Order: sequence, then structure tokens, then C-alpha cells
Amino acid sequence: MERVYNFSAGPSMLPLEVLEKAKEEMLCYGESGMSVLEMSHRSKDYEPIIQGAEAALRKLMNIPDNYKVLFLQGGASTQFAAVPLNLLSVGGKADYIVSGQFSNKAYKEAKKYGDVSVVASSAADNFSYVPEISHADIRPDADYLHVCFNNTIYGTKFHYIPDTGDIPLVADMSSCIISEPVDVSKFGVIYAGAQKNMAPAGLTIVIIREDLVGKARPETPSMLDYKLMVENNSMYNTPPCFCIYMCKLVCEWILSIGGLEEMKRRNEKKASLLYDYLDSQDYYTAPVVARNRSMMNVTFVTGVEELDKKFASEAAKAGLKNLKGHRSVGGMRASIYNAMPYEGVVKLVEFMKKFAEENPKD
Ligand SMILES: *Cc1c(COP(=O)(O)O)cnc(C)c1O
Repeated sequence: MERVYNFSAGPSMLPLEVLEKAKEEMLCYGESGMSVLEMSHRSKDYEPIIQGAEAALRKLMNIPDNYKVLFLQGGASTQFAAVPLNLLSVGGKADYIVSGQFSNKAYKEAKKYGDVSVVASSAADNFSYVPEISHADIRPDADYLHVCFNNTIYGTKFHYIPDTGDIPLVADMSSCIISEPVDVSKFGVIYAGAQKNMAPAGLTIVIIREDLVGKARPETPSMLDYKLMVENNSMYNTPPCFCIYMCKLVCEWILSIGGLEEMKRRNEKKASLLYDYLDSQDYYTAPVVARNRSMMNVTFVTGVEELDKKFASEAAKAGLKNLKGHRSVGGMRASIYNAMPYEGVVKLVEFMKKFAEENPKD
């Protein structure tokens, strides 16, 4: 069978070059005589893999020296708890912008640990836009402000980095990390489940400013304590070895094509093709505010539930898989992460035109 264009929101496509390299090295990695899948994380063969992954990610994202990089497990959802456990002081406060389901989950989880408040929310408008806030909206004594930078389910993205002054900004970047350059120095913590844009499922990346490490509450489980993980170079226990190897290959692949500037250029080209088409016709509607459109997750609807269903199933038959929108919003969602080739989006737009012609609404 031929490979399809997989528009899944995550786990999602990986660059073909990376899969081929992994295939080449699958049975016997370097001089080790074994697969990375079989390797001890404490072995001398594995050491350069995890160190290489960190070096590649640092170079790619231009991560300043005063930031630590952690390779963890538990997904972004575990970070919803790890962030307050590590950063919310006992009796302290934290503020959240709720711009979608994931940031709402993060907020609810943090609420278990203290005085946690929503400074802005777009829930009343079905998360069709990203709320704008200013420094004055954040409580001056908050330990941090949490945002979800790209809202995977709705297809919106922060078009600005909130000005938090000295208050650390914490960002869930699961679905936009390494899709374009970002100024890491503006953030206290960046975290991401790797399965959208970096690696197979099972790896979580945390990038944290040094001075924020070592503040965990006493009851913090060891596995969630950033300091313990920093001290042990992400090897307090067995890390997700193979995913880290894949993450290394993905970062090296992006570096080889020209880094995040080039990645952004390619991502913009794909997203523009799709949004320009959406704006040029009236069969499909893009439900989110234009200035907040995500470059990674593009949502659209026909306005007729049966047609939406038919669209997803016929597209799948044409080799365009996983275009059904999230169960909570319906419609369609095309996730066009780094690994989605331009041709995949060309095929999608061709299919959309054909579908509109063949399925008039009256
Ligand atoms: C997918 C996703 C999550 C959940 O990630 P898990 O790794 O499954 O816990 C959280 N936040 C965002 C923005 C996501 O896209």
C-alpha cells in the first residue's frame, strides 16, 4: 500500500527522510551491534544520542545557555500538574489565559494547588479567537502566567507574546513547537508533548529558565520535580529512549533544510494555500478569527453536518486521512505540521474543490 497524506492532529506525520534514516539504522545502530530500541539508556552508545538530541534542539531553537532542556514522559497533560507543583508557591497565585480545551484543562489542574485565576477566556465565543491581555491584567504577585500558544482543537494561535514583565510566562507549545523561530528568552517555561511536531508519542519536552528550577513544593512527586530531572540529565529513571532518538533525527532534519526560518517559510506556504482557498469561496467556512489563524491546524466546516461527515470519509478514500474535526467541535481539521509536504495540501485543496462541485447544498 502507498503512504497517505495523514492530516491527524497527533500523533501525526513524521518527515519521510527521518523515517527512512530510522529504518536504515533500525537493526544495527552505528557500531553498537543493536537497535536503539534495545539499548540501555546508560550505555556509551546511547549517551551521544540524548546529548545529540539536546544539542540539535538547542541549536534549532537558539535556546539560551541559562535554560535547561528536559526529556520527560507523561505528555503535555502531566505538565498541567508539574507546572503548578514546581512554580506555584504555597499560598501563592497563578494566572491563566483560557483559549481552548487544553488551556482549560491546564487551568483546572492547577486550581487543585492554590489561588489560580483566569485572566481572560474566549470560551463564550467557542474559542474562535485568542484573548488579548496587557501586563495590567495579570495579578502583580502571580507566580506565573500560563498560555497555550497554539490551540490544536480550534485552530487558533497566539499572534503576540503577552507582556508579563518579571512574571514568568509558561507556554504549552505542543502543537507549534519548532514550526517557526520563537524567542525562548521571553518565556520562563516552554513545554510540549512531542507527538505533534517532534517525535512519536511518549516524549515530553520541557525548556525551563535556570532560576525557576528548584522551587518545587515538598509534596511534588519525584518524577515531576524539575530539579531532580535537571540534576539527573533527564535520566532519573529510564527515559523514552527511542523517542529521544527520533527527536534528534527530526531536529537534525530541520537543521539540514535551513533551520526554523526555512521551516516557517514552508509552513506559511502550505497554510496560505489552504486559507487563500478558504477565503476565495463560500462553500466552506473557516470559523476562527483571521488574525488568530493557526499555521498548524486549519479548521473549516461546510455548515451541513452530513456533508462534513461525507467529506471526511470520501477524503480518506482519496488518501487524505484524518480530516474529521475534533469530536467537541465537529467539521473538519487539517493538521499540517512540519512533516506534511506541500503536495499534501495541494491535493487537499483539489479535493475540496471537487467535493464542493459534486455536493451542492440544495
Ligand atoms: C495534544 C495537546 C496536549 C495533550 O498532550 P498529551 O501529550 O496527549 O498529554 C496538550 N496541549 C496541546 C496544545 C496539545 O496540542
